[in-house]
Amino acid sequence: MRSGRTFIISGPSGVGKSTVLNALLARHTDLAFSVSATTRNPRPGEQNGVHYHFINVDQFREMIARHELLEYAEYVGNFYGTPKQFVDDNMARGRDVILDIEVQGATQVHTLRPETVRIFIAPPSWDELERRLAGRGTDSPEKIQKRLVRAKVEFQMAHTYDYFVINDTVDGAVRELEAILIAEHCRPRER
Ligand code: 5GP
Repeated sequence: MRSGRTFIISGPSGVGKSTVLNALLARHTDLAFSVSATTRNPRPGEQNGVHYHFINVDQFREMIARHELLEYAEYVGNFYGTPKQFVDDNMARGRDVILDIEVQGATQVHTLRPETVRIFIAPPSWDELERRLAGRGTDSPEKIQKRLVRAKVEFQMAHTYDYFVINDTVDGAVRELEAILIAEHCRPRER
């Protein structure tokens, strides 16, 4: 049985990561999406256990104390973390696991597990990113500004990633992600 691999997808808030990932996951039902734990409030339409495990700060701290998180980070006033068991169980079963996490978490995972493949998704332009963030209509102008500031910091880390994908069109970005997944499985590894 081939071994499963971990793929990290990072990119500025509003870049369209969820849309691209949903399209990828719909086409490849063998991929396992890692549902993160977060202390942020659900957005309209988000379901507990599907988009995130929505928990409070005390519960989050308990998960940290029990070493249940592979990584965690604070992002614009909330905590986000990756439940470790899910990643390990799926990889043991030979399934590729996709993590949608920001750059600090990506660095933590890559330090622990250097074989992890990191993909950075970028917007076609900053104007377009601002337009997409505002158009989402879910965040206050103040939060949008915070997310844009954070996006600029994240962008400076993009060169440390293994791959860089520009989300110009969803179809184009999904095709490039598919190509990366295939290429990574053709790469000889010791594991
Ligand atoms: P949002 O609030 O827009 O859903 O997510 C904000 C940021 O948190 C995004 O960049 C997303 O990739 C990141 N994120 C989501 N889950 C995790 C996680 O488990 N760990 C880390 N480090 N970042 C996460």
